[in-house]
Amino acid sequence: MPDREAKTGVDVLRVPALNKSSGFTDEERERLKLRGLLPVAVLNQDVQLDRALENVRRKADAIEKYIFLNALQSRNERLFYRALMDHIEELLPIVYTPTVGQACREFAHIFQQTKGFYVTPADRGRVHEILGNWPDEDVRIVVVTDGERILGLGDLGASGMGIPIGKLALYVACAGISPRQCLPVMLDVGTDNEALASDPLYLGVSGKRLRGAAYDELMEEFIVAIQARFPGALIQFEDFQTANAYKLLNTYRDRVLCFNDDIQGTAAVVLAGFYTARRLIGRSIKDMKVMFLGAGSAATGIADLTVPALVAEGLDESEAHKRLWFVDINGLVVQQRNDLAAHNLPYAHDHPPMDFIEAIRTIQPDILVGATGTHGAFTEEAVRLMAEIKERPGIFALSNPTSQAECTAQEAYQWSDGRAIFASGSPFAPLTVDGKAFRPGQGNNVYIFPGVGAGALFCQAERISEEMFLAAAKALAEEVDDSDLASGTIYPPLTDIRKVSLNIAVAVAETAYAQGLARAERPADLRQSIADGMYDPRY
Ligand code: NAD
Repeated sequence: MPDREAKTGVDVLRVPALNKSSGFTDEERERLKLRGLLPVAVLNQDVQLDRALENVRRKADAIEKYIFLNALQSRNERLFYRALMDHIEELLPIVYTPTVGQACREFAHIFQQTKGFYVTPADRGRVHEILGNWPDEDVRIVVVTDGERILGLGDLGASGMGIPIGKLALYVACAGISPRQCLPVMLDVGTDNEALASDPLYLGVSGKRLRGAAYDELMEEFIVAIQARFPGALIQFEDFQTANAYKLLNTYRDRVLCFNDDIQGTAAVVLAGFYTARRLIGRSIKDMKVMFLGAGSAATGIADLTVPALVAEGLDESEAHKRLWFVDINGLVVQQRNDLAAHNLPYAHDHPPMDFIEAIRTIQPDILVGATGTHGAFTEEAVRLMAEIKERPGIFALSNPTSQAECTAQEAYQWSDGRAIFASGSPFAPLTVDGKAFRPGQGNNVYIFPGVGAGALFCQAERISEEMFLAAAKALAEEVDDSDLASGTIYPPLTDIRKVSLNIAVAVAETAYAQGLARAERPADLRQSIADGMYDPRY
């Protein structure tokens, strides 16, 4: 809002970016005409933070905590971000997965104050015009979804807006992007989820999803309008249904500064997990075999980034493909199957068809990666078999939310006599199995996307390259120290996320400069310059 600084009186209290509530000093209360509008005590932000946390912690339900934090964000933005940044381990599972999944499911019922921007088919021809209604002019990051495949929860229509809102909150908290530069977008094209649409409180476009050429045209208009309104802004695609996710990425990746977090962000965080796991497995990643259960966008994205990582270690492309195996709902992905999607074909090997268990026994993978969206897909038999054939079996149960994970941390450790190298998509609490303490690692995309976005924006990258994600994965793996590994986790503590994101931003910007993709001049001290520009929520 251009006139934000000019506001006085109650208008100041109503702007979340300006409001400090009881934190306004006496001098500010005088100058901003706030005298009488607030209780007399002047509290500093630390004390306000204590009160906010007290309120979060008194709520028994995660969704109630979410609702409180969401309201805090609408009331006092700086206090919200201070809380999120200083207590990321505690609050990330509320603001993002797994609670955000429930928040999306219940979006229409817990809705209080609008956040973000909605584009609908009725806006066709006017998207550029209505984007002018957004109050901030310097938007740098747009996270957009059409709500068709929210986490592992399927089509949530306009209720999926919780995802772009949550992801952008993490850009701010983890990589120091200013909240004024963030734009969450719901491309609300209807929903095929009839139960949702028939809810009288549903907030989205009623009726079946727009598809085909009309959908593509609306998306194209949106992308062009974003570029015209906010030149140089990064567009992050989020939670699109798999076929669409690939189509959008392939259509726009060379034209626009954009990436798909489900495909590329996931790939980098899991590749970082491979880099780290090799320290426990004791083999180079080029000598490891990985078997994916689930052959959708997440798994294929991981494989597509792992191939160049293996090539960088000396394999040729066809050898690299042979290290990667897929099993989907119909069994091992092999050439003789005729039900495969285009993105499966490079990984369809010349091999007899077989089921998951037989495939583990025959191929003997070092790491199993689950991206099925199906709880229980890593059965006891599968994990026990992995533990039988490998001293340190990698068991990555990536599906979100926690209830959808292929197996739990407890199961992975129990069924492998505590030898599993376990990672999950959603968090599992520290646990003790057979007297041994474990701190399960979370392969959360939050380790990657904020740093990638921040690095690309800092150097004004023309586009996001595969090499940038490879650099991000390496930078993340370097943050894992031996004490992390000893406690069973292959990712750094979330409390280090600002440092991790900064290092990734530096690695991504370095890559952009090296590839000639950066438009901004390189500063003498890249790290310091990126760090200096980070948002600070303290008053
Ligand atoms: P998708 O719908 O594109 O693919 C799902 C795949 O799983 C399909 O190939 C399907 O055939 C297969 N499948 C389903 N049930 C199966 C079963 N029982 N056995 C074998 N295969 C089965 O979905 P996606 O975008 O690839 O996402 C999959 C999961 O990955 C989601 O639950 C999502 O939460 C998770 N994910 C995790 C992260 C992360 O941890 N960082 C990031 C993105 C996605």
